[in-house]
Formats: sequence, C-alpha cells, structure tokens
Amino acid sequence: MKIVSTVKELQHALPLEQTIGFVPTMGYLHEGHMSLVENARCENDFVVMSIFVNPTQFGPNEDLDRYPRDFERDEKLAREAGVDLLFYPTTETMYPLDMARVTVRHGADVLCGASRPGHFDGVLTIVSKLFNLVRPTRAYFGLKDAQQVALIEGYVRDYFVPVEIRRCPIVREETGLAKSSRNVYLTDEEKEEASQIYKALTVAKASLEAGDDPKKVKQQLTDRLDEIPNSQIDYVEVVDYPTLGVVSNDSTELLLAVAVQFERARLIDNVIWKKG
Ligand code: AMP
Repeated sequence: MKIVSTVKELQHALPLEQTIGFVPTMGYLHEGHMSLVENARCENDFVVMSIFVNPTQFGPNEDLDRYPRDFERDEKLAREAGVDLLFYPTTETMYPLDMARVTVRHGADVLCGASRPGHFDGVLTIVSKLFNLVRPTRAYFGLKDAQQVALIEGYVRDYFVPVEIRRCPIVREETGLAKSSRNVYLTDEEKEEASQIYKALTVAKASLEAGDDPKKVKQQLTDRLDEIPNSQIDYVEVVDYPTLGVVSNDSTELLLAVAVQFERARLIDNVIWKKG
C-alpha cells in the first residue's frame, strides 16, 4: 500500500487504465469502513482510500478538534484490508484558496441538515474535490449516513459526475449499535443504552410493514427513544427515500432516521423500509 499526501504524488500513483474503487473516510477506522473497502475490492482493480477530517463539515461548536484520530492504527488497518493507495492530505492541500464551495439546494434542511446547518455543503464540497482528484470508477458510501448518500447521489446526477455511487449496508456491533468512530466517546453503560436505538428502529420498521401509519410509527419510535436514559432525542423522522421529502402514497422506500445525543456523542442511526 502506498501512502501519499500531495496532489502531485496522488496523480503519479493513480493507475491509468484500471478501474478505481474509492472509499472516502475521516479515519479512526472500524469494521464499517472495512466493509466499504471489501466491496470496493470485489468490484474494482485498484482501491483508493482517503483519510481527511474535513473542517468545512463541522459547525463552530462541534467536535472538529477532538474528533478521534490515529493515523498509525488506520494505516495498518487499511493495509490489512487491501487498500492499494491511501490519500492523507492536509487542510492546505484540500483547500488551497477556499474560494468556491458546493451548496445543497434540496434535502439539507431536514434530519442532520436541520441540526447541523452547512454540514452537507461541507460534505459535498469535499466529496467533489476528492472525486476530481481521484477520478474513481465507483465510490463507496455507508447507509449509516443515509442522508449523505442521498445528497451525494443527487449531486452526482446534477453535475453529471462520471462515477457510480455504491450504497453499502450499516455494520453493527452484536448489540445492534451502529459502528461509528464517535462510539469511543461513550461509556460502557451508554453503549448498552445506545443499543436500544436499533431495537426501537427495528420495532418501528415492523410496524410500517404491518401497515401502520408513518405518523403513528414516528410517535411510537419517539416514545421508545425517550425512554433511553442519559440521552436526549435530537430528531426522529420518517421521510421518503432517497428524495428526503414528505412520505406520500407513491413512496416506495421510507427512511426512518434518528439522532440521539448522549453526554459526549451524538449518535445517528436509521433503517430503510422498502414497500412491497
Ligand atoms: P466517516 O469516516 O465517519 O466519514 O465514514 C466514512 C464512510 O464510512 C461513510 O461512507 C460512512 O457512511 C461509512 N460508515 C461509517 N460507519 C459505518 C457503518 N457502521 N456501517 C457502514 N458504513 C459506515
């Protein structure tokens, strides 16, 4: 595995005639990230991973400075997972002038976008830069961040970006807790409590399957999440997927998405229910 950090080095290290699978991350790797690499390896000749904690997707009072980082460990994990090229740029490399940024028009005013204004502009800005640099055949994103996937798919369509976006399923702990770099902020007790989130989502999905009204399901899900000790609900939503709009009779996929704040970590999780 080769490690590069400048644009020039990256351009020299990229293969010319092979298919490239790309896995963008913010590091502090776990099995969720590894599953994306596994998918990328299966479908492409060459796998590129980036590790970059992107400042423009963090709000002023968010955890940019204390976001967990461990490059040595990440490097080892990436190597073991079969990454061919690891891109580890600095902020100066990714934002040489910071003169232009991507703006989301629809779908950033709900779910995480509502509580994190500007977050998805930052995400699409960095994804757009990385796509231009890596020019991947396929790029791999986890459904853990279902809103992010929907907005990236929308961006790729609107800008005619020549890349195939691959959605990958959420990897979870045995307890059901979705793997996340931010889980290190949780105490053992909170981890136990946080595992209730997925249980509540599973019950909600079953209710939808049984034909219950989405509004009623949302209320029941809220009530269940309210019972989790030492935490506060940030949002509970049921929206059409991937438009992220209001659920209608024509909706074929529904996203049940939640964010729950624990003392030091805000956790997000979701399930997608496909009709029929
Ligand atoms: P991050 O490093 O948190 O920005 O995540 C990088 C990529 O890994 C994103 O596409 C995430 O959706 C994905 N990812 C993070 N956690 C998981 C998980 N538990 N299961 C599947 N994909 C994940």
